[in-house]
Amino acid sequence: MTELATTAQAKELHARFYHDVMSMPGGEKIRICQQCGTCTGSCPTSYLMDYGPREVIAAFRAGMIDRVVKSNTIWLCTSCYYCTVRCPAGIKITDLMYELKRLAIKYDLLPEDSKNPALTKYFVNSVHKHGRNHEVELMGKFMLTKDPGLAFKFAGLGMKLFMAGRLPPLAKNIKGRDELTKMAAYLEAEEAKAQ
Ligand code: SF4
Ligand code: SF4
Repeated sequence: MTELATTAQAKELHARFYHDVMSMPGGEKIRICQQCGTCTGSCPTSYLMDYGPREVIAAFRAGMIDRVVKSNTIWLCTSCYYCTVRCPAGIKITDLMYELKRLAIKYDLLPEDSKNPALTKYFVNSVHKHGRNHEVELMGKFMLTKDPGLAFKFAGLGMKLFMAGRLPPLAKNIKGRDELTKMAAYLEAEEAKAQ
């Protein structure tokens, strides 16, 4: 993990986050958060997060978004969208979490003690490669690099899923995978231009 963000890096993260959020449809609503806490109260994993969803907005307002980017918060968001549907101000908190994840990966600000960033990276790689996630490839890479003990722990479950045809050993690419690759490349190029 990168050391504590320098002041310059913290400012850059804040500016990047602000720019990207304002580019989202409805992103400007982040300004009208009333700090009611409905999002945190609704979030199934907030009790494990360094900063709950309400505090993410408060940290952004205080110019401390760099702390959130480096915290475990974004890696514990399960993308359930409960905060988003319940927010009285219509703030798309789940999308903010995705933006923070993108920033953390881009700036290599990943928590040392968390395995979730690696899981996200392998998932994205698998989708890039096949157009969909391939569970065997994803879990194989994850276990080999992050937690070999998991292979023994979940061997029984893996075998049951395999026997039930729920865990195909070979990846199958989706139709139109090349088009998906082109779309992803286009979006990445557009993002690079905007920076
Ligand atoms: S529910 Fe919406 S308005 Fe309330 S604290 Fe969360 S983001 Fe802010
Ligand atoms: S989308 Fe993420 S932050 Fe929102 S309630 Fe679900 S887990 Fe919590």
